[in-house]
Amino acid sequence: MPELFIGGRWTAALDGHTRDIRCPADGMLVATVDEAGPKDTAAAIAAARDAFDRGPWPGTPAAERGRLLLRIAELLERDKADIARAESLDTGKRLVESEYDLDDIANCFRYFGNLIASAGPGRVIDVGSPEVDSTVVHEPVGVCALITPWNYPLLQTAWKVAPALAAGDTFVLKPSELTPHSAIGLMRLLAEAGVPPGTANLVLGAGSTVGAPLATDERVDLVSFTGGVATGRWIMAAAAPTVKKIALELGGKNPNIVFTDCDFDTAVDYALMAVFLHAGQVCSAGARLLVQEQLHDAFIDEIVHRARQIRLGGPFDEDARSGPLISAAHREKVAAYVASGLDEGAVLRCGGTPPDDPALEHGYFYLPTVLDDCTPDMSVVQEESFGPVLTVERFRDEDEAVALANDTVYGLAGAVWTQDAEKAHRVASRLRAGTVWINDFHPYVPQAEWGGMKQSGIGRELGPAGLAEYQEAKHIWRNTVPRPQRWFA
Ligand code: NAD
Repeated sequence: MPELFIGGRWTAALDGHTRDIRCPADGMLVATVDEAGPKDTAAAIAAARDAFDRGPWPGTPAAERGRLLLRIAELLERDKADIARAESLDTGKRLVESEYDLDDIANCFRYFGNLIASAGPGRVIDVGSPEVDSTVVHEPVGVCALITPWNYPLLQTAWKVAPALAAGDTFVLKPSELTPHSAIGLMRLLAEAGVPPGTANLVLGAGSTVGAPLATDERVDLVSFTGGVATGRWIMAAAAPTVKKIALELGGKNPNIVFTDCDFDTAVDYALMAVFLHAGQVCSAGARLLVQEQLHDAFIDEIVHRARQIRLGGPFDEDARSGPLISAAHREKVAAYVASGLDEGAVLRCGGTPPDDPALEHGYFYLPTVLDDCTPDMSVVQEESFGPVLTVERFRDEDEAVALANDTVYGLAGAVWTQDAEKAHRVASRLRAGTVWINDFHPYVPQAEWGGMKQSGIGRELGPAGLAEYQEAKHIWRNTVPRPQRWFA
């Protein structure tokens, strides 16, 4: 069955191109999928434009749109096992993690379904005159280009597709060329749920051939992108000539601040999870550990001891606790960051190589790595390696912790570990990041906004603001007793 979904029909790429998808855990061929080119992309944009301008979806009552999202959530739960398996084969991620993601994905559809169903007809404004009815209503933005990465393929997609559908938009989705299968699964469910033809379109392919035209085409009204900061900058510039709305969810270099008065065991445990979950391929990974001077030696010894015990393996290895990197090229990039850190004076405490295990030799595994004695000027501290690499810096007091934490172009997330609640909130309020966790790491809920300050992005996903990204506010003013004003009398 062909894998591009355009105008309500499954179709092969016009020029017949395909791409092999391989599992990063063992290099095995997962499947060969259709690879779209510019002509397929143009057809998908045309279908989405036509469906927005003439199709039923933008005018479908909000309550009905909400009901359809709840139906999609049910279908995702029904097909959870199959889609989670497909996601794990594409990403190499542990099956259990893909299953958690599928629960979150269903909840995301449920949240936006309920949010739009309860949205109400608009905000009535009191303009100070009984002769005027004034209301602000929210309408769909139009045709949305949704471009997503490979690390949490369907989760990042759901954060865009659910609010776009809730708002009444039509869209063209372009998942990462490395991880297309869960998006294909989702499109099947959208069709089954009754999303009208042309409302939801899927093109598979590379950023340069499929993503780029989505960012430049004048028929597209909004580009919502999740991915690397360099691509985000390119998209922002490409969208400028047609003044598209843009929403950018970019990278992070997130500080995890540990004070001496933390709960030691819990802070160690979470510091490991913060950075080594999914081999560090998490935008909110706690990759910069900032630890108070007096605690440093004991804390890092324990981190290193436990990091050495993390068992690596493929998605279906139930004993594995972390998986491979996405590709050989990505592993080389991670290794280059580690090498540059060592050149600049960091101390390797563990890891720093692929594992010496013949069972893993065909996958892109890299050992959990701890670099101690790091300084803020090092590129491994400043830039996102997006791998299982923890850099460690020391701080003396609260002011220095905050200064180090904020000393980056990124501002996605961060955490503070202390049992002093006042100090925790003081530090949280001084961190320039879209999410701050106190005595925790990584949790998020669909009700709360997610996104970055500084170069971590523009706009927010999830929460009411995550719906507003896909809407236009329109003010409707009605003069109930029109009569000549005689301004020029
Ligand atoms: P990437 O920027 O290489 O690619 C992301 C998507 O953009 C892919 O679909 C890719 O094909 C497409 N793309 C590439 N070039 C393009 C172009 N010129 N025009 C249009 N589209 C183009 O990122 P990645 O390597 O897939 O993902 C990893 C990055 O994503 C990391 O930096 C990570 O921090 C970030 N990320 C951020 C969040 C967040 O919520 N802020 C979440 C997940 C991932």
